[in-house]
Amino acid sequence: MGIYDDLGVRTIINAKGPSTRVSGGLLAPEVTKAMTEAAAHCVDMAELQAGASKVIAGITGAEAGIVTSGAAAGLLLGTAACMTGLEPGRMARLPDTTGMKNEVIMARSQRNFYDHAVRTTGARIVEVGLPDRVAGAGVRDAEGWEISDAIGPATAAVVYVASGSSRPALEEVVRAAHGKNVPVLVDAAGQLGPVSNLKKFIAAGADLVTFSGGKAIGGPQGSGILCGKRDLIMSAILQSLDLDIDWAQWSPPASLIDKDRLVGLPPHGIGRACKVGKETIVGLLVALQRFVAEQEETRRAVFLARVEKISNALSRLRNASVTVRDGMTPKLALIVNPTHAKTAMEICVALQNGTPSIHVDPSQAAGGILVINPSCMADADVAPLTQRVRELLG
Ligand SMILES: *Cc1c(COP(=O)(O)O)cnc(C)c1O
Repeated sequence: MGIYDDLGVRTIINAKGPSTRVSGGLLAPEVTKAMTEAAAHCVDMAELQAGASKVIAGITGAEAGIVTSGAAAGLLLGTAACMTGLEPGRMARLPDTTGMKNEVIMARSQRNFYDHAVRTTGARIVEVGLPDRVAGAGVRDAEGWEISDAIGPATAAVVYVASGSSRPALEEVVRAAHGKNVPVLVDAAGQLGPVSNLKKFIAAGADLVTFSGGKAIGGPQGSGILCGKRDLIMSAILQSLDLDIDWAQWSPPASLIDKDRLVGLPPHGIGRACKVGKETIVGLLVALQRFVAEQEETRRAVFLARVEKISNALSRLRNASVTVRDGMTPKLALIVNPTHAKTAMEICVALQNGTPSIHVDPSQAAGGILVINPSCMADADVAPLTQRVRELLG
């Protein structure tokens, strides 16, 4: 707590999960140690990203990969790569898209706050399909033929946001896009969970996939992964590296950047603002290797034990009940009695503004439910959390 005390900043109990707003999760000591070690030496950043590429390729099955400052940065860099290819003139011009393909197709139901990162490049999003199923009566969403139909001479990419409810299936989108030589960029930021998902989207034919480093992987909060086709990754890294160097002096590692294929060196690209430091790159790689090595079942058991401890402590509340929701990340549903004077959102705000400050997941508050996610909590957080909930809900 020392450093936060010095800054006059209170620490919080994060029972919401790895959200950026509440600073993500807690780093394993091995990750922190690797970051400290990385900070003690200087390296060539292109060589470090080439080393990262080997690790990421091995784990994801992609041809190449880089560490980014987050999945949103992965969307930005991936979109830019699809628009510029390996042409330095185009890289220099973005976000002015004159002379290049500048449309990105997305299913309308998949639009979300993070697609601002796609539009940051100067690309225009073309929405496809009516998510009629959301209306209740309907069953349909965007379909493969609609994506194919929307592809034209200005289409740079199709962006697909992966989730359990995304439609159409990725395989169908890949078929439609590849049928017209258009790459597919998958936003899989929150799709881990299952370690197998690190390979799944590449195996389904995606050209680029981005993951958050600060969510389930347990890497630094400001980290992410972009992996995929070698040429696209070469373009993405060229648009994010610092290129303040003379062409004659520049000797990047050929495994990541093949200098012979470039007519010249672009100036700093549109991704230069998404800088990622050596400590972050090393921290992400160590976290990624731990995430893959650790048994899913071990991770789940730790979370389940924490949830059950909370559940037991809250089993006899006067104004709420609790249910354990088992799954990849077991969670606890705190169901506020509808007859209680305070709504779930009011309880959420009271938890947040009390001492200690506790953040829970409010996404189902409208239905009277607050969700407690154990994945970013320490064991020491359990007692103060349950005490505070008992104070508020009897
Ligand atoms: C979290 C998230 C992002 C952003 O990831 P960062 O690593 O925080 O940049 C993008 N897309 C989706 C769907 C997400 O859930």
